[in-house]
Amino acid sequence: MWKGNSCGLFSQIHVNDSEWIVPDGQIIIWFKSATARKENGWETLINAFYENVKKSDMPAGHQEPLFDAHCHIGESAPHADEQPSRPGGGRLLCGLGTADWPAVRQAAATWPGTVAAYGVHPWRAAETAAGMRWLADLEAFLTTDARAWAGEIGLDGARTRDADEAVQEKAFRLQLRLAARLDRSVNLHGVTAWDALVRLLDAEYGTAAGEKTFIVHSFSGPFQYINPLADRGAYFSVGPLAWRRGSRVQTERAKRLPLDRLLLESDAFLVPGVDAIADLQKTVAWLAGARSMDRAELAGIIQENAGRLFGYGNG
Ligand SMILES: [Zn+2]
Repeated sequence: MWKGNSCGLFSQIHVNDSEWIVPDGQIIIWFKSATARKENGWETLINAFYENVKKSDMPAGHQEPLFDAHCHIGESAPHADEQPSRPGGGRLLCGLGTADWPAVRQAAATWPGTVAAYGVHPWRAAETAAGMRWLADLEAFLTTDARAWAGEIGLDGARTRDADEAVQEKAFRLQLRLAARLDRSVNLHGVTAWDALVRLLDAEYGTAAGEKTFIVHSFSGPFQYINPLADRGAYFSVGPLAWRRGSRVQTERAKRLPLDRLLLESDAFLVPGVDAIADLQKTVAWLAGARSMDRAELAGIIQENAGRLFGYGNG
């Protein structure tokens, strides 16, 4: 059933009438016929795969589950049998605006390990200027899912051509206020507007600041904001943007983020063919290099952080 070559980096598995090829931990599924594709949904095959593969058979470094703390979905409704990325250690699926909330909700209901986040991204804050209906809709999405987060929300000083500062600030503030009222955690987007971001967090969270948790996704700010954000409850999710840029500043930032607040993110749009897990694996390897840590140990710590935040596992 399970065949591997001597170095263990390339293996095949047959499930019913389909064939799996596993080069370096990436799973590619070949269906021998349209009937096989129809009869074996992605989920069935993925479950069969994990049942059949002993952990010890997996290539080293590809065994651990990794939580994707920030990813997105296309605006077409997802189907349960078309989970676009192989299963990892769960994911926070972030909305960008009113248009994708229904698809986020459907994905969270059908894809295992998926937590929904609903919010209006600062790039789309202009859509909040047309009236307050969006805020009522947001509240409805949040209250019908007790696990849901608010996000992706925040401020982007580099994209004021899409929505000016006042519009972004108002949209952010209203969403933060709603999240605080409903006691929901928040997934934050921040670019160059860190003073304003911290000021609004304090204004909306008030004395509860520090008891709240939120994720600052793809933190790109000056180092002096790391501690103030962490003091207010921030976790920091690091993704491919950091290592693709590959600068010394990125490496230095990766070193300075508090270990007990580190998370991984793909920031990927989950559509068929996208392998977000591969990006998480590359990111944890890069982070381990930057912090001079053992890769597997770091992956374990990060997954514990995610477990603590999302309430699963032994974290
Ligand atoms: Zn994003």
